[in-house]
Amino acid sequence: MNQNILLVQPKFPTPSKSLNHKDFLPIPLLKIASYHKTLNDAPHLVHGKVNIDFEPDLIYITSLFTYWQKEFWETAEYYRTLFPNTPINVGGIYVSLFFENSEFQKKCAELKVTANKGTVEKFEKSPPDYSLVDVDYQIIHASRGCKRHCTFCGVWKIEQEFVPKESIKNEIVKNKLVFYDNNLLANPYIERILKELSELKIKGKSVYSESQSGFDGRLLTLKLAKLLKKARFINPRIAWDNSFEEWNKIEKQINILLKAGYKSKDISIFMIYNWDYTFDEMELKRKKCFEWGVQIADCRNRPLTQEFDDYNGRVEQTNKDYYIHKNQGWTDLKVKKFRKNVRRQNICVRNGYKFHSSKLERKVVPKSDYFKIVSMPMHEIKRLLPDAWWPSEL
Ligand code: SF4
Repeated sequence: MNQNILLVQPKFPTPSKSLNHKDFLPIPLLKIASYHKTLNDAPHLVHGKVNIDFEPDLIYITSLFTYWQKEFWETAEYYRTLFPNTPINVGGIYVSLFFENSEFQKKCAELKVTANKGTVEKFEKSPPDYSLVDVDYQIIHASRGCKRHCTFCGVWKIEQEFVPKESIKNEIVKNKLVFYDNNLLANPYIERILKELSELKIKGKSVYSESQSGFDGRLLTLKLAKLLKKARFINPRIAWDNSFEEWNKIEKQINILLKAGYKSKDISIFMIYNWDYTFDEMELKRKKCFEWGVQIADCRNRPLTQEFDDYNGRVEQTNKDYYIHKNQGWTDLKVKKFRKNVRRQNICVRNGYKFHSSKLERKVVPKSDYFKIVSMPMHEIKRLLPDAWWPSEL
């Protein structure tokens, strides 16, 4: 057939400058590339709005979060202008979540683009073509969907059925794996999969894994935690989405991971904030994590209908710039304060510090001096380092 296939990942404002950040690899486009190669077509992957020196026969554009739709539409408009008559297919998270929205459908019609909701079976069956990206890791799914229905999450709306795999060993080609499963432990074959991983060698070397989503701590048992450790899963993360009162349940889950051999500073707790728990309650949760010596992976809540996000941590902002959850008294100041506290606390946890100071963080004050300073009374430390902040204090 030898068609030229243009695969476009819009330039999203990803936090990392790295083009192929492991959280944002355009796996659907890599699968589409693989599928088209079986038809002897020539796929070309580009990022953002770039000059194209060939005439594509077919264009695919992916989308990501709903609040990054501006970048998606600008990219679609750009390629429609460049190639007025080429078929354009669009898909991804935003497209799937807005598929039934009449304004969305109107825009698709105006631009003459075909929207696809969820996964497309023929592409889903193709392995991602890693030759198009320069990465040393492999993204993998041992399941699709999630059996739970958390109100803030779109997974169960896009992937309505939980589909587990029995085995994944034949799919693995690299020594580093990043699981994109939404609820890895819910897979009824998880023990078998973890045993496969612990025994697997690629190019004579062991395989290391991490999970992009947190583990569902409610499903975590000591047996599973030991299998995760043996399967060389690094940096385990569990979620604490509910109230502070649930702290003893989270503590049990952390203790299971500790018993399995994980170090507390390598464990992270996912926490949604700017959400249905107040700033004060989130601060109690934060402080508890400091007592446990675990890090926090903070997630700022943005509704699934949010269409923009111009959050900037360095300036004062309003709901016109990004979503501020007014119900529980969240304000711009509180959102930014919580984020700042988590960041400083994580630095303390990683370094074993009792307090944070920007001079310590930037190594203007060397780590060796910390051990002399820390034994001083608090007011003395404050005199030396006026921005000193103690995560253990509310
Ligand atoms: S458990 Fe995780 S993936 Fe499943 S619905 Fe809740 S937030 Fe979404």
